[in-house]
Amino acid sequence: MSTLPPRLSELIGKPVNDIDTPALVIDLDAMKRNLGRMAEFARKHNIRWRPHAKLHKSSTLAKMQIKAGAVGVCVQKTAEAEAMVAGGVYNVYISNEVIAPAKLARVAALTQKVAAQGGQLAIAVDSTEGVIRLAQAMAEARAGTGVATVIDVFVEIDVGQGRCGVEPGSAAVTLVLEIRKHPALRFAGLQAYHGKAQHIRGAQERRDAIAGAVEAVLLTRRLIEAQGIAVDLVTGAGTGSLVREAASGVYGELQAGSFMFMDADYAKNERDPAQPQFEHALFVKTQVISTHSGHAVCDAGHKSHAIDSGMPWVHALDGERELDYFNGGDEHGILRPAAGHARLPGLGQALWLIPGHCDPTVNLHDVMIGVSGGLRHGSVQRIFRVEARGALT
Ligand code: PLP
Ligand code: MN
Repeated sequence: MSTLPPRLSELIGKPVNDIDTPALVIDLDAMKRNLGRMAEFARKHNIRWRPHAKLHKSSTLAKMQIKAGAVGVCVQKTAEAEAMVAGGVYNVYISNEVIAPAKLARVAALTQKVAAQGGQLAIAVDSTEGVIRLAQAMAEARAGTGVATVIDVFVEIDVGQGRCGVEPGSAAVTLVLEIRKHPALRFAGLQAYHGKAQHIRGAQERRDAIAGAVEAVLLTRRLIEAQGIAVDLVTGAGTGSLVREAASGVYGELQAGSFMFMDADYAKNERDPAQPQFEHALFVKTQVISTHSGHAVCDAGHKSHAIDSGMPWVHALDGERELDYFNGGDEHGILRPAAGHARLPGLGQALWLIPGHCDPTVNLHDVMIGVSGGLRHGSVQRIFRVEARGALT
């Protein structure tokens, strides 16, 4: 891993008080408890987990997940996959469609790189053209190096999100048959992620949405198997719905990512009784820079945290939340007493924000500062680079 700027490396071992603001901070104790909960949940359900690394974009955290029992990681982008492999993570699934030949050449090169390390690369497809282009890139890579490698290919079906994925049923069979024409491609199973279901607030409504996804998978799997072709794995699920996919007997792998940090938006879901109680583990440390009779202002605005899923919560270190956060622009947050409270923080006071949405929040920062021993009295243990920050291609 590349070295940190001196100012940051000097922080290691220092009390949380010394962390300048605004800063992205991981409560490592809470994060490890979340990892333990996920590992235990997966073990209990006899299901694999492949967390989505688009959350943390860090090969170091990916390796911690693998050490805790994950089979590898998912990523959304070719450049994220490159960052993972460069950091020594060799079991990577691009759970997304890649169409540009220039990108597919990078995917094929990565496939060779991980194979040399005993690892495996995988990718999703939802078009015949996409399969043909992928096969072409793999053939070119083979011609270039003389080494024959195989990429795992998942056929994505649309199980209700209306994003990528072919219609469940015969359209998927057509793609499977196309994949099997190419020796460098292995049909690995079905990608069946229901993104829309994740933030349905009611637990029963989320269950119903996943029940529909399971039906779609079963229909598709039956048709593929009728061709004498095995469907080795069905992969999908996010933090909001994972208990349903795990209990389905159909999904074999969970892709949830956010559970490790838990954002405010996921905390607004009615918890399914079967869902592990994940804790908030990612915070933006901020400081009050201006006080007034009815409000205070802190130094974290939407350049410090994403606001696509709502404003951050002001974390209550003990007791209930006393402050509400309102958007004050790029660099400011406006704080007002929450209902039933009157107190405002003083000038210079540190506050901890729970981001509305962790994935895009992480992408706003170069580093995540890992603390242990709590946000009040703990100290800085290690610093994680957001290696795949801005890895959009
Ligand atoms: N799988 C795919 C394909 C996704 O797009 C996402 C998130 O958007 C996830 C898994 C993980 O979901 P979450 O971070 O909400 O747990
Ligand atoms: Mn997300």
